Formats: sequence, C-alpha cells, structure tokens
Amino acid sequence: MNIIVEKYGGTSVASIDRIKAVAQRVIQTHDKGNQVVVVVSAMGKTTDRLKRLVNKINSKPGERELGMLLSTGEIVSSSLLAMAIQSMGKKAIALNGAQSGISTDSTYANARIKKIDTSRIKNHLLQNEIVVVAGFQGQTGDEVTVLGRGGSDASAIALACALKAKYCHIFSDVKGVFTADPRLIKNSVLLQGISYEEMIELAASGSQVMMGRAVEIARKYGLKIKVSSSFENSSGTLITGENELEQVVITGIALNKDVAMVDIFGASGGDIDVAKMLGEITKNRINIILMSSHRNIDNTTNFSMIVKPENVDLIIKLLDKFSTNCKIEKYEINNNVAQISLVGSGIADNYGVAYQIFGTLSKNNIQILLTSTSEIKISAIVLRDQAVHAVEKLHETFEMNNLERNLIGGGNGKN
Ligand code: ASP
Ligand code: MG
Repeated sequence: MNIIVEKYGGTSVASIDRIKAVAQRVIQTHDKGNQVVVVVSAMGKTTDRLKRLVNKINSKPGERELGMLLSTGEIVSSSLLAMAIQSMGKKAIALNGAQSGISTDSTYANARIKKIDTSRIKNHLLQNEIVVVAGFQGQTGDEVTVLGRGGSDASAIALACALKAKYCHIFSDVKGVFTADPRLIKNSVLLQGISYEEMIELAASGSQVMMGRAVEIARKYGLKIKVSSSFENSSGTLITGENELEQVVITGIALNKDVAMVDIFGASGGDIDVAKMLGEITKNRINIILMSSHRNIDNTTNFSMIVKPENVDLIIKLLDKFSTNCKIEKYEINNNVAQISLVGSGIADNYGVAYQIFGTLSKNNIQILLTSTSEIKISAIVLRDQAVHAVEKLHETFEMNNLERNLIGGGNGKN
C-alpha cells in the first residue's frame, strides 16, 4: 500500500468550513486505497497573531517560551481536522511534533529536524487510521521546538522522506509554481514541472510558494513534490529531479522587494577593509543576500551589499564605527531597490543570457544597480518602482509565456 503525505497551508485550514473541505479531500485519498498522513499549518494568520501578542509583552522573549507558544497554532488545526475526519465516519488521530517522532536540534524557535522515528505513525497507519500531524514542530529532549517560518513544509517533506512516501502533495492557495508572480505579471504561466535546484533558488530569491529548506530535504532523498491549490482541482506543479524535465533557459523569475542596498565607495585598505566590514557583519549575525566588490583604478575598493531592510539601522551604526578606523570615501544606503532573479538550469549551458538581460533593461531605461550570477541564477538589483516593469519585459524577452513544456492547456496563463 502506498503512503501519501498531504500538507495543507494556513489558508486551506483558515475556517471550520475549510477544515471540513480538507477532511473530505483527505478521505478521498484514503478511499483510493492509500495510507494517508496529513500535515497542517496553523489556521489562517494564527502564527502572526501569536507573534503580535508576544511583542506586546516582551520585545526579547525567551526562545523556549516562544517555541512553545508558536507550536500551539498547529495543535489547534491538527486536532480540529482529526475531529472533522472522525465526524465523517473515518478513523483519525492527531499527533503533535513529539508524538510524531520528530526530533530537532535545540534552537527552540528556529530548529532543524535531526531524526524521525516513524514507528508510532506506522502503527496508526496499520490500524487504518488517518494520521494528522501538527506541522512546524518537533522536540529536543523533553522540550518543544518549532522549525522557523513556513516550517510545516519541512515537517511534511521530512516525514514523507522518512516514511518512504510515494510523494508529498503540498496544498495551498495558489495553483502551483508560475514563471513569475501571477498577481503581478499577467502573462505568467503555471509550470508543469520544475527541478529541485530551480525551486530552491526561487525560494531563496523571494518566491513564497514553498520553504526552500524543505525542497532541499526532498532533493536529498529524491522525493517527488506536487504543489497545487486546495480550492480547485488542477494538476499543479511537480518538483522533481532535473533529468526528468526538459531544459529551458529561464524557468522562473522571482521578485524580492524586501531588500535594501548598501554601497561603500573608495575603501583605501582594499580587501582588508572588506574583510573587516564582513567581520563586523558576521559578528552581528546579519545575513548578506548578495554582495559584490570591485577594485578601482586608484587601488581603492568599492563594495555593495544587499540586505534585509530591517538590518539597515544596525549596518549604519557599524559603518559609522568602521569609517572612523578605515578610510572610505563615502557610503550610501538605498531603500528603494528590489532584487530580480532569473532562475533556470539552462543558464549554465547558454551564452548570451546576460547580454539579453542588459539589452532588455537598458532599452526600457531601467538601470541595473548591481548583478550577480551563479550556475543557475542571475540576479539584478533595480529601483523598486521599476521592478515589476523589468520583470514583465524580461518575461517577454525570454518568451516565458510560450514555453511549450510549461503550458497547461497552451496559452496565456489564464488556464
Ligand atoms: N504556521 C507557521 C508559519 O506561519 C508554519 C507554517 O505555516 O508552515 O510560519
Ligand atoms: Mg507556507
């Protein structure tokens, strides 16, 4: 008998009616002769609401208590879903992270899964029970931990791998993975398939469809992931190994507006200064999203960093301190920028991609403030108010609404 893991996101379980609809879907999968494990997120925006409560009480809460509090959202939704399934005449049991056998490291509020003991879940499956697991949580010793925002994806994928499930089906409020954000780019097209690597890069570049860390787990174990909407019946997107897909140059474009740019000009100490500044950044645990440095003709160095806007105040403090010890010409902060990332396994094997990007954007009077490239991703930083236009034009240049292999029903993204 096949084991199928289904995961339902917050919107899919946001109300009692939606929980009942999920119960019906789960029962359908079970009625087809599968053993079913369901992983749920907290109802709607519960986790955000819990975090707001915390902010009203303590601006630096203890990690342990924070983890305990946040874990409650998924306990509510999983218990209710199990009750809904039971009310429809089927056997179901709700399990929290610890009861599901999920062990994590001890970073209470942002833990990583270390090991899964599947024996209890397997026993329930053998009793013909539908197992409903509270996502986003585990245990370390006797303590409760949570996995970091979006962590129910990681719970579902890791469980599916440990149980050797046939696949993991992620249900959310979007139809699947699109060539670009369909809310912004009207010609975007639903992708039938995307590789693990591409999905990981898109997630890291601002695509919200799935947690990147979860896709990394699936890649490691070769687990197939289906992503589709719980509100309609559509085939969605399959996330799988690259060799199972036909290659195109650019598969998807992600847009991340939640960034700021820091430019440091004329550092007289060159790379030594860059290293010193990076040392400060590291000590303060600031994550650099993208960085580039370059030597000027007078042997000074310019360097730029893309960071989250919430880190800017601290960076200014560090830069003020830094510029009293190291000679720099000036620094600038630009809060009005966005990062555009073109992702595709075909980038490495095709020349002219950068040429097409610069050509398209310059023709449309969109200045590129910074670029970076890797094997399967090219990122460009542009002014934020030009970003959607830039994505539209790049989407056109790479004919992304016309990729035969990506078309569902052939056409214009309306299908
Ligand atoms: N409820 C958690 C969050 O909002 C986990 C999840 O939804 O995956 O981040
Ligand atoms: Mg999510």
